[in-house]
Amino acid sequence: MQTNTRLVWAGRHPERHGGLVNTPICRGSTLLAGSLEEWRQKKARHAGGDLRAGIYGRFGTPTHHALQEAMEELEGGHRSLLYSSGLAACANVLTGLLSAGDHVLYTDSVYSPTRQVLTSTLARFGVESTAYDPRAAEGIEALIRPNTRVVYVESPGSETFEIQDIPAIAEVAHRHGAWVVMDNTWATPLYFRAMDHGVDVSIQAATKYITGHSDALLGVATCTRDAWPHIARAYEEFGQTAGPDEAYLALRGLRSLKLRLDQHWSSGLRVAQWLEARPEVEAVLHPALPSHPGHALWKRDFRGACGLFSIALKPLSEEALAAFFDSLRLFGLGLSWGGYESLAVPFETQRQAARWPYEGPGVRIHVGLEDPEDLIADLGQAFRAMAAANEPALSA
Ligand SMILES: *Cc1c(COP(=O)(O)O)cnc(C)c1O
Repeated sequence: MQTNTRLVWAGRHPERHGGLVNTPICRGSTLLAGSLEEWRQKKARHAGGDLRAGIYGRFGTPTHHALQEAMEELEGGHRSLLYSSGLAACANVLTGLLSAGDHVLYTDSVYSPTRQVLTSTLARFGVESTAYDPRAAEGIEALIRPNTRVVYVESPGSETFEIQDIPAIAEVAHRHGAWVVMDNTWATPLYFRAMDHGVDVSIQAATKYITGHSDALLGVATCTRDAWPHIARAYEEFGQTAGPDEAYLALRGLRSLKLRLDQHWSSGLRVAQWLEARPEVEAVLHPALPSHPGHALWKRDFRGACGLFSIALKPLSEEALAAFFDSLRLFGLGLSWGGYESLAVPFETQRQAARWPYEGPGVRIHVGLEDPEDLIADLGQAFRAMAAANEPALSA
């Protein structure tokens, strides 16, 4: 089946829900068994690793299970689990795969709160970690230690958008007995088939495109059969769970994911191309632009690009930067992305292995579903306000 068809059908069982097209929001903690025999059967299934046996609401209701089933199909993995946020998924997956004395190699372009989990809490529990240059590809082999258990990838990288050679990295990691964990939020399973490229656990901040409307926080981790016992154990022991309302919103978002993503892709590219020709802009970091250093890898491995990319502005005064942001009308200033609306936010990287090479500040842009020509006009007037505010600084 083609992706559009899968998106419509995945995880849906109208026959179990009175014919309803959508699995309803099922809320519940206690799940009753009809007899001692049934109770014992459910307990046995749960003990055998079936977290959907229905012993307790913490392991989900039909709403959660519908989303898990859909994500398993889309990611092409063995099992999916839901978490209260994308970050909760990242932290819990790492905790499940690591023990004291283990070592992690993580991309220097990692989502910064994930870096914090590694360098703060997991370090306190005796896990060592090293950041590697996201462009290293098979070069990561030089950093592998006998105790390296996880290679953590994110492609393109948060804020700086380096494309990683995931198949090359996975080959090295597996040869040395390490798991490959990927934050696949940018591409979603529609634009990057993580499992086909050697990834063992694919994580989605479903807060972003899967939900797609900036109204819910949710994480999903999908894993291979081999990784499943580790992922399931951490999930269960840490009491991970997610709300059924959030699972419902993610399922609802999922049905239109391809339509939205394709539009984010074309509008994002249009805005990126316009920005590339602007004198105020030093560089546009968008993997679908031929000028991007990872463009060939992106073309080889990805099936599309979402609406998120960064620009490096030429050096400017603080007043001029403020004038730019404060003049934007269609781009909101705030965290997260993947909703229907456009955003622009300044960032400072915490890179160790791959330093920010530009003198000017970085701005992360999310191109939403507005008309791209309106977005371009908005950026144009914000650049004019920026230039006006920069003038005193230039003449001084
Ligand atoms: C937002 C984000 C997360 C975290 O998701 P939350 O639901 O906000 O916790 C993880 N990884 C990436 C790449 C993100 O952009």
